[in-house]
Amino acid sequence: MSNLKQEIEKRRTFAIISHPDAGKTTLTEKFLLYGGAINQAGSVKGKATAKHAVSDWMEIEKQRGISVTSSVLQFNYDGYCINILDTPGHQDFSEDTYRTLMAADSAVMVIDASKGVEAQTRKLFKVCVMRHIPIFTFINKMDRDANDTFELLDDIENELGIATCPINWPIGSGKEFKGVYDLKSKQVMTFSDTRKGTQEGQETLISIDDPALLDEIGEEKRAQLLDEIELLEGAGAEFDQELVTKGELSPVFFGSALTNFGVETFLRHFLQMTYAPLSRTSDKGEINPFSEDFSAFVFKIQANMNKNHRDRIAFMRIVSGEFEAGMEAYHVQGGKNIKLAQPQQMMADERKMVDRACAGDIIGLFDPGIFSIGDTLTTAKEKFCFEGIPTFAPEHFARCSLVDSMKRKQFVKGITQIAQEGAIQIFQEYKGGMEEIIVGVVGVLQFDVLKFRLQSEYNVEIRLENLPYEYIRWIKNPETVDMDRLVGTSDMKKVKDMKDRPLLIFINEWSIGMVLDRNEGLELEEFSRN
Ligand code: GDP
Repeated sequence: MSNLKQEIEKRRTFAIISHPDAGKTTLTEKFLLYGGAINQAGSVKGKATAKHAVSDWMEIEKQRGISVTSSVLQFNYDGYCINILDTPGHQDFSEDTYRTLMAADSAVMVIDASKGVEAQTRKLFKVCVMRHIPIFTFINKMDRDANDTFELLDDIENELGIATCPINWPIGSGKEFKGVYDLKSKQVMTFSDTRKGTQEGQETLISIDDPALLDEIGEEKRAQLLDEIELLEGAGAEFDQELVTKGELSPVFFGSALTNFGVETFLRHFLQMTYAPLSRTSDKGEINPFSEDFSAFVFKIQANMNKNHRDRIAFMRIVSGEFEAGMEAYHVQGGKNIKLAQPQQMMADERKMVDRACAGDIIGLFDPGIFSIGDTLTTAKEKFCFEGIPTFAPEHFARCSLVDSMKRKQFVKGITQIAQEGAIQIFQEYKGGMEEIIVGVVGVLQFDVLKFRLQSEYNVEIRLENLPYEYIRWIKNPETVDMDRLVGTSDMKKVKDMKDRPLLIFINEWSIGMVLDRNEGLELEEFSRN
């Protein structure tokens, strides 16, 4: 790249999160439309009927018409190069969804205006908070009857524990939706129906003091707006860039992705309020994105996207420097130099090859089975490792047994490899070996994926028996805890993970507190920092 610094400065990498059906796909499509990355809205990610160019490797996806995997989309807008990390929109999302957030520099949370904060948003939100990344809120579907605006904001503050600061304010909703008022410019942007976004909107900007506003929104709406603005000013949720950057204050926008209203406004503000790629922590200190040396970490591994090749793709976030196809980099965990061939990048519907990429970008590299989640690659002389990616708590557990015991070897190989990719986690009885395996997943769909993949790739048939456990805790201080003497509860089970770390699984959440009470000095963690 001619000017690496400029290229990196142009980058913005964010994850888009929401509860299913809030409008994440629609909003993403509209973003891409502004960037000219696709010609026609509606071709980002087909649901039940459309083609699955990216992910037809997985029969389950086709059968159920959902996207199991997360993808990365890149587009240019107004001099910026934007990477969107999409997360599976289905309820059965997986640990990958969490990990995707580890690769982003900020997050956009889409909320349905008639529903407020929903379960999946809550979970993903926790991960954003842990990382202290900026979180932007887009309250969608204002063209439908919405909850009271103050209540929506209260809901976010109470449910997610983050302060909010509206950047614009809706005027009515549903059939009565008239537009949004920009609190800074003091202008109303009027809403006009774009017939589901198929037609250019004719948004006009009218100052709040302009008498013409009366004709646009009517006396009643105008009076209500003035009242609400007064209330808001009293509430004192002012914009503060520093708090936004630290992830303590979420700027809130209102709009309607379907009708294309408020999307470009959002994008413009978002770009102003975010920064170029951030530095990342390693065991040798912070790694500056503008460093000449290339470095990246693996945050996701996806198997067999193309069944004929039985390949794995390792997705990595470039942290610093520039990537060039065919270059060599040192794989820290593997302890050797490797040639980085066959890079891939997602553009809307297709995978395409890329020659160059830089800090902030995500690339998918062909992986002959050498990478694990969290691995570091670098060309720097002084080697370092990026901070590990946490293992997130599974919420569903099943006992996994082999139908034909002669296939033991393939079974162990298959299940270990699949676990290495991070789709599932495997545990053993605390004192046991590989003869009994407990599988833990974040979303139940992963059980089907596991069964399907063991059968189709390793020719192994398994039985899964659901276990009632729902909570898991790693032991934070295993060196000082005597596992044999640990006093548990009747609904608790001691297990160990693939790295032989001890942990506890529980049926009831309240047992966790009880076990802590009964064992002085015991410290538990909800996720494990690898
Ligand atoms: P996702 O599951 O979060 O990706 O949600 P989708 O983008 O697939 O949207 C779910 C449904 O809501 C679809 O039928 C969309 O057409 C519809 N939808 C999305 N945005 C809006 C909006 O702003 N207004 C209305 N009325 N419907 C919307």
